[in-house]
Amino acid sequence: MSQYSTRFAPSPTGLLHLGHAASALLAFSWARRQGAKFHLRIEDIDHTRCKPEFEASIFEDLHWLCLQWENPVRRQSNHMAEYEDALKNLQNMGLVYRCFLTRSEILATSLQAPHGVQKIYLGPRKQLSEDEEHYLLQQKKPFAWRLSLARARDQLGDQWQQLCWLETGSGPDGQSGHIKAKPELLGDVVLARKDIQTSYHLAVTHDDAKQCISHVIRGQDLFGSTHIHVLLQALLGWPTPTYYHHGLLLDSKGNRLAKRDGSTSLRSLRATGLSPREVQKMAVIN
Ligand code: GLU
Repeated sequence: MSQYSTRFAPSPTGLLHLGHAASALLAFSWARRQGAKFHLRIEDIDHTRCKPEFEASIFEDLHWLCLQWENPVRRQSNHMAEYEDALKNLQNMGLVYRCFLTRSEILATSLQAPHGVQKIYLGPRKQLSEDEEHYLLQQKKPFAWRLSLARARDQLGDQWQQLCWLETGSGPDGQSGHIKAKPELLGDVVLARKDIQTSYHLAVTHDDAKQCISHVIRGQDLFGSTHIHVLLQALLGWPTPTYYHHGLLLDSKGNRLAKRDGSTSLRSLRATGLSPREVQKMAVIN
């Protein structure tokens, strides 16, 4: 067994589709070739969208596809205290701030990203005074915790310019090799949502470190998030894994497969009488 390990980390917010199968198979077969560990991680921090029946079907579908993984399986909802500790570390370093704004207030003060629909929030124009913050807390106004890129930059000094990762797959624009991390492409991201004490970015980087994931194999839709993941790793003293972002399977109209469109769900493909081998052959990313 090598020192390497990878993972497949689905969120139980719907049925897995052919694209998930492709991603899981890619990571699994890479692990087999390398003699590496293959972990399954259930990313279920979002209690508003995750459902036990979807989690059950993840296990069922992946077993049916003949995948095997390390035990025990890590379920993020069992580790909320760890994510709170990671957030506390960032709080103690003065790198996060409370954000009381509503979604529409955020949108109104955000920049349009150069390419695409995403908007970037670069922090408040004016810092809340201690009194203002105290007042809002007394009013029980809900707040999120955001990472301050400005403070993170100060904290890292020269290291900021050196933030990078090794991309062995490719980004949506063909980026590969040593990629310079540009956290400013995402802005002051939320690290703890108003309704959940953590966020995808914080939980996923914490878990990759905790599970000693050496190679992250995942879809190109998450390439952009890596800019922030690399920054969090530097701030929290965690290693940066090697990343392999793979292309996404598209439907016949050229759209990304979506959980809400059940037609390519593994469950429905199974119901048509296809064998695991046949579905494995369909789930190949070129
Ligand atoms: N849980 C994420 C998803 O289902 C994947 C996270 C990751 O691979 O980094 O899209």
